[in-house]
Amino acid sequence: MNSTESKILLNGLYCNSQTSYSRFITREVSIGDIPMGGDNPIRIQSMTTTDTMDTLGTVEQTIRMVDAGCEYVRITAPSIKEANNLAEIKKELRNRGYNVPLVADIHFTPNAAEAAARIVEKVRINPGNYADKKRFDQLEYTASQYQEELERIYKKFAPLVKVCKEYGTAMRIGTNHGSLSDRIMSYYGDTPRGMVESAMEFMRMCESLNYYNLVISMKASNPQVMVQAYRLLVETMTKEGMNYPLHLGVTEAGDGEDGRIKSSVGIGTLLEDGLGDTIRVSLTEDPELEAPVAIALANRYKKGTVQSSSELPVSIAPIGFSPYEYNKRQSEELNTFIGGHQVPRVILDLSQQSLMDPQVLQAAGYLYSPLLDKYNMAEQSVDFVYLADKLPSFTMPGNLKQLYNYTTWITLAQKKNCHPLYTLEEYQQASQRDAALNLVYVSYKDLALSPEVLKLISEDNTLVFVLVTDQQHGMADQRQFFFGLENLNIRTPVITKRSYLSSFDSTEEMSKLESDFQLYASTDLGALLIDGFGDGIWLESDQVSPKVIVSTAFGILQATRSRISKTEYISCPSCGRTLFDLQETTQMIRSRTSHLKGVKIGIMGCIVNGPGEMADADYGYVGMGPGKITLYRGKEVVKKSVNKENALDELIEIIKADGIWIDQPE
Ligand code: SF4
Repeated sequence: MNSTESKILLNGLYCNSQTSYSRFITREVSIGDIPMGGDNPIRIQSMTTTDTMDTLGTVEQTIRMVDAGCEYVRITAPSIKEANNLAEIKKELRNRGYNVPLVADIHFTPNAAEAAARIVEKVRINPGNYADKKRFDQLEYTASQYQEELERIYKKFAPLVKVCKEYGTAMRIGTNHGSLSDRIMSYYGDTPRGMVESAMEFMRMCESLNYYNLVISMKASNPQVMVQAYRLLVETMTKEGMNYPLHLGVTEAGDGEDGRIKSSVGIGTLLEDGLGDTIRVSLTEDPELEAPVAIALANRYKKGTVQSSSELPVSIAPIGFSPYEYNKRQSEELNTFIGGHQVPRVILDLSQQSLMDPQVLQAAGYLYSPLLDKYNMAEQSVDFVYLADKLPSFTMPGNLKQLYNYTTWITLAQKKNCHPLYTLEEYQQASQRDAALNLVYVSYKDLALSPEVLKLISEDNTLVFVLVTDQQHGMADQRQFFFGLENLNIRTPVITKRSYLSSFDSTEEMSKLESDFQLYASTDLGALLIDGFGDGIWLESDQVSPKVIVSTAFGILQATRSRISKTEYISCPSCGRTLFDLQETTQMIRSRTSHLKGVKIGIMGCIVNGPGEMADADYGYVGMGPGKITLYRGKEVVKKSVNKENALDELIEIIKADGIWIDQPE
């Protein structure tokens, strides 16, 4: 099948619909016995972390990954020696009854790629370094020099394409934000456009050789860059009549809750757009722990489980809205507290908790000291608590706003710091309103059916909308509300609320419930924040603790770079190239730097994605050789070949010299 034979639904955009769920149907690509793209389920995959020359270790880890749900397994092949050993690994897996398609991961080494393509079902190449020795120079290229470069690359790349055609091997053209070629950097910079062009050059070469068994990825550690790059890729390739399957991933997402939230913000946003045919979640954890996260993300989009938004009239994207660049919606700033340039605010519902003891506020980030009779705030202190109709029997912190249902608020003798939350009807009929802040529940239905009402009440400059949804595909429903506001030029601040009430299987273990809550909340709210929508977030769940709700809310704001409340670790998942124990090292670095709010530290097992990825980090800790670490400030090497025993101390010295260090609080 050539590229024009399969149907392309898009209409010059990046997705079929911005207002309801519609999967972008790509061409089908065969990878061993498990086809990808087209109508096939979203496939799950991951990558081994063992040394590729350790045949049994790699086989056993692969089996654990397959048993955890991986449908493809990627293995690094840094040189021809490892590429050849893939045959031994494959043989042993087949002997043990595992037919999982294998993917060789290639950087820099065309000869290893050609050898691997004769053995495994798919090869991944990085267009940023396949035929380039990257020097990280900012070179100037004239148009003719650029063309000559492409011809040079073609000569190096065409033999691999021919081997893939001959052996029926698939190929992923996997662009990475951190390792774009000097040529691309000089023309486009490290931008989403540069990432797209980097892949398109190779895709066009493949098509000129009548080879179409391609899968494409656009990974970055910053979910915003990653989302923009994939969207731009789809728009660009469909304009050229291409519709290759997409491999989704946020690279170097880190570990634990941070890694899960960051991955879901990036991957989830694109899945909501109907994009994505396979997922790899990159965590700095054992690879078999990645598959359950990817499965949970994909499960929401299984055929038959996703409904479109309601039958209401559709709000189309406002003029000037761009899905390819970040622009925060311009809302009115109220009381120098919410909207405008203020950071998004966080609401926590405490109405189901006992309000007898100030310790209940600990989950909200307010630590009460009985000795001093005062509260201390944490980095993740919420801005509002919702108490519904319950009155606390202790004094609340002076800077914490309390939200009450309107019918209770109106009865309060003392209203300082207390604000009403109304239904739309209550607000319209209210006999009394707050002089500072009035919060009103609205949904897309209100906007679609009676825009004049919302337009009229938006003239109240104490008003904040609390946007809810009852739609299964709630993100699109809420996005339509924002589109509608823009089209009506309504500047009222909006707090986006999502409820996950008994929505998960309650027989599941708590850790699974918490994980699913985090993944889905990050998808739903992250997707809106990535598009610049929302002046606050409110997560509700009856199945996870207030503490988890708060850390998830702040995690989403951090991952979307909307509100920074902690140190960010951009740590790679490790692979057979890794030069130190990533998990142990990440924990060690975290234990001494996790109080440096807003500082981004890159921790990379090797240099492949190293210096480029440092563009997004303030400091870098990168494996250089056995026991040797190179330390970076941004993209600049500050210390080379430091013994790993001293590397963290040296990194801290660099941070201190920059005047950024603060001592850890007791
Ligand atoms: S940066 Fe990490 S995951 Fe990427 S190739 Fe190097 S060691 Fe492997």
